[in-house]
Amino acid sequence: MNRPAPRELTLLSRTQLSPHMLRLTLGGSAMDDFPADQASAYVKLMFPSDAGARPLMRTYTVRAQRAGEIDIDFVVHQDTGPASRWAQEAQLGDRIMVGGPGPKKMVDTSADWLLMVGDMTALPAISVNLEQLPPNARGYAVIEVATAADIQVLSAPANIEIHWVLNPHPGTDDNGLLDKVQSLPWLDGRPYVWCACEFSSMRVLREHFRAQSDLDRSNLYISSYWKLGVGEEAHKALKQASA
Ligand SMILES: Cc1cc2nc3c(=O)[nH]c(=O)nc-3n(C[C@H](O)[C@H](O)[C@H](O)COP(=O)(O)OP(=O)(O)OC[C@H]3O[C@@H](n4cnc5c(N)ncnc54)[C@H](O)[C@@H]3O)c2cc1C
Repeated sequence: MNRPAPRELTLLSRTQLSPHMLRLTLGGSAMDDFPADQASAYVKLMFPSDAGARPLMRTYTVRAQRAGEIDIDFVVHQDTGPASRWAQEAQLGDRIMVGGPGPKKMVDTSADWLLMVGDMTALPAISVNLEQLPPNARGYAVIEVATAADIQVLSAPANIEIHWVLNPHPGTDDNGLLDKVQSLPWLDGRPYVWCACEFSSMRVLREHFRAQSDLDRSNLYISSYWKLGVGEEAHKALKQASA
């Protein structure tokens, strides 16, 4: 299938969701042929680079979609790259090229129980998943945020326990998410595990999950969404080598 051509979208609104999370709504007539129902899919935001070079691409999740517009929730981080900087500085009416959407990142709801693990970059995808789960779903969501004020009110079935892990310096504590995951009872039946976070945390979690005898690889989605100290290009190369 041909990749959809990038489209130019306009910044329609900005909402500061919490100290480290900024929601931007992008839309415009170029959304007319954007496929429906793409919450949790990823898009590629494109930023100009040196003359003649390919644009820099940064990957973000469609947090919500309405007629003619999508919401993207940006982690506001100090070690600025082009995407974080653009999100903080862009004015209403500014335009940006957006590629995609790529595949949605949804859990397998036919599993007996679910475990979703992620840091703030995965919070948009985890939130979409929680919202769309059947009411009888059970399991856990374990989410790392920078401060208590970054904890969001999430819509989730009653039998999904939500656990928040605080890490004021994202990317510096490889074991924060793992420790919380290990403290939770592993439930009976077939699990489905969805996990996305910083590269080093992802590696320790991947080792842990691969050691679970009843967790088949087909029931595990695990990905790093960024790596401390390097931009997306270098992170992508390390991710491919590590896979
Ligand atoms: C499938 C997928 C979906 C994603 N969805 C989202 C999303 O919805 N929202 C979101 O915010 N991110 C999301 N990410 C992560 C996002 O693509 C990266 O954080 C990206 O590196 C940000 O680009 P940048 O230009 O701001 O920084 P880069 O130029 O890539 O990096 C510059 C510096 O910033 C640091 N940095 C990058 N991200 C962070 C961070 N989160 N916290 C602290 N330091 C950081 C890097 O280590 C580097 O030192 C997603 C990634 C993937 C693969």
